[in-house]
Amino acid sequence: MQGLMMNYPLTLQHAFNRATRLFYRKEVVTQTEEGLHRYTYADWGKRTMQLANALKEAGVAQGDRVATFAWNTYRHLELYFAIPCYGAVLHTLNIRLFPEQLVYIVNDAEDRVIFVDGDLVPALEQIADRLPTVKLYVVMGQPPYQPQKLHPVVDYEDFIATQPTTYAWPELDENTAAAMCYTSGTTGNPKGVVYSHRSIFLHSMGVGLADGPGLCEQDRVLPVVPMFHANAWGFPHAGVMMGSSIVMPGRFLDPLRIAQLMEKERVTLAAGVPTIWIGLLNVLEKEQFDFSSLRAIISGGSAVPQSLIEGLARKNITIIHAWGMTETSPLASLTRLRSYQRDLPAEEQFRIRAKQGTVVPGVDFRVVNIESGEEVPWDGQTFGELQVRGPWVARAYYKDASSGEKFVDGWLRTGDVAVVDADGMIQLVDRTKDLVKSGGEWISSVELENLIMGHPKVLEACVVGVPHPKWSERPIACVVPKPEFAGQVSAEEILEFLRPKVAKWWLPDEVIFVEAIPKTSVGKFDKKVLRAQYESRLAS
Ligand code: ADP
Repeated sequence: MQGLMMNYPLTLQHAFNRATRLFYRKEVVTQTEEGLHRYTYADWGKRTMQLANALKEAGVAQGDRVATFAWNTYRHLELYFAIPCYGAVLHTLNIRLFPEQLVYIVNDAEDRVIFVDGDLVPALEQIADRLPTVKLYVVMGQPPYQPQKLHPVVDYEDFIATQPTTYAWPELDENTAAAMCYTSGTTGNPKGVVYSHRSIFLHSMGVGLADGPGLCEQDRVLPVVPMFHANAWGFPHAGVMMGSSIVMPGRFLDPLRIAQLMEKERVTLAAGVPTIWIGLLNVLEKEQFDFSSLRAIISGGSAVPQSLIEGLARKNITIIHAWGMTETSPLASLTRLRSYQRDLPAEEQFRIRAKQGTVVPGVDFRVVNIESGEEVPWDGQTFGELQVRGPWVARAYYKDASSGEKFVDGWLRTGDVAVVDADGMIQLVDRTKDLVKSGGEWISSVELENLIMGHPKVLEACVVGVPHPKWSERPIACVVPKPEFAGQVSAEEILEFLRPKVAKWWLPDEVIFVEAIPKTSVGKFDKKVLRAQYESRLAS
């Protein structure tokens, strides 16, 4: 027997209608060169519908890919809804990728239009002659010079100006593609993940769950995570659906500017990768800010060091550790202390909060032994590959024949190595490709670097395995001292700090002081670059 409930389509049009009908007074604030730009969801809604009319006039068809090459701004938020609600597919391009990768991605997706922020025009012009599918460029804001190579090109405000402020959205099947995003392609070519209206709708509900990030109408949310990085982790979509005010950082991402914006705009929830919050903590150690409105920071994308959780706690800031991937929309797991963990000693609570946590409702997981395929025991020690499934988890990559290796028996193989504790909380040990394989045993690069970042003189630390004649691989640590301790910390001091905390054979063979750790296009430590740089460091 079947249930008798409505088959109401789960589309972004529903979220759009909520924001414009129920929450029209709420604000979208953007940091720009000229200061703060602010308007209401009422204004946003009108401009979003003008944009839909303009897409129609420009001949964009349903299913066409329409790309953005942009920072987090109000215009980007207009595109976030106009494109999918119109029936086309929003393709967010990562502005920090190398030209070759961008060319590949635009051509693979066959983007038809690209919306580009003015200051990013020079970067796009570098590759424009290799983008045959693109039929129109729309420039948002002032470019540094008149574009020479973008043909045809139109200014965003001119593009929408004369259009009507209403638009009758077409009826869409909830499984229609709404957005796509390429994974950064740590190996091989980048791979396209295609989100549906349904998956984004359900993911937004997940972002609103009290045991998830708990985004709600009361929030003033600041997505520092770029809108091209897994949809800014779903905060723009969920913010619109819930009627939260949204604060956009624009291109001003240095920790001081972020701190000032958080204070001024009374941000309640902020989201970004740990490197942002490491920088923020460093700022807070020198300057005072009023963050009394802030209820939490959500951080993921790479492991949040326990020392960061502790450091922010000393400033009365709660950081919630979340784990996910572009393929998982991305929210998959998140750490909140369970009811029965609240009375544990502080140290124990910090240890738990440094885990990647509990899968959110809707996401199912297992950790399996790669060779045997058996689930590992939940003993907090035995590790295996983390696999997930759920209604907002990808089941295949766009046009990719190798999808088969990543998706098995209805599960996504994450490529992450994890242990599970008796409560079913997940802790990531490392990425499969980053584990250091020393003499047949595995060393977790993540655990080592998190420990080193607990040293009071250390700002950032990154550990990689490099080839070794006897042990096949050995760990080396690249360490950035806090600016005030530059030149005043020794390798021996770091090793001495680690000795009581890890097995002797885990100690890095070398501690190298560097000025900065190279970062990937989404702000994570770039281990590939360090491995290449130090490949022959231990060769003889
Ligand atoms: P890329 O693979 O190009 O970095 P993603 O942003 O999709 O792009 O990265 C997903 C990966 O990031 C995960 O598979 C995992 O290795 C890592 N990751 C995400 N969140 C965390 C976290 N909280 N702790 C440790 N690693 C994380």
